[in-house]
Amino acid sequence: MLKYNVSLLLKPEVGATLGLDIDEVHQTLGDLKVDYVRGQLLLTRTNRGVLIKGQLSTELEVECVRCLEPFQLALTVSLEEMFTFSAATDPIYHIDEGWLDLRLPLREQILLTLPMHSLCRSDCKGLCNNCGHNLNEGPCNCSTEEIDPRLSALKKLL
Ligand SMILES: [Zn+2]
Ligand SMILES: [Zn+2]
Repeated sequence: MLKYNVSLLLKPEVGATLGLDIDEVHQTLGDLKVDYVRGQLLLTRTNRGVLIKGQLSTELEVECVRCLEPFQLALTVSLEEMFTFSAATDPIYHIDEGWLDLRLPLREQILLTLPMHSLCRSDCKGLCNNCGHNLNEGPCNCSTEEIDPRLSALKKLL
């Protein structure tokens, strides 16, 4: 669920830390579905709340911008977020009766880390402009006439 009980950190003095091992599969973060979330976070009690810091690796399905096929993309996201002790100080990131919910900050960090133009592979051939065939699966009927690369370079100049 990516929710962790951190009530151990509510009583001790400022500076107390707690390590959190994250190892979850098939999580839903709002509109994002991730296959797994793994990593370690260090939680530090401050005078305002709990600071969470660490790196998590995750994998999710995204669409290739070139061929529009879904594929699995692995990502490493850095989390550094302050969770306050009360909803009054921070209505979103706060410890709720001893519980820390990582879904929201994780979703935000994934969205920030996601490349703008995800390609299923660096040499993705994309779709045929003419018939829409996925050229990674082989040539379509339109591509029988090969364009001379020198001619196409020339064409770009015109
Ligand atoms: Zn592709
Ligand atoms: Zn075609």
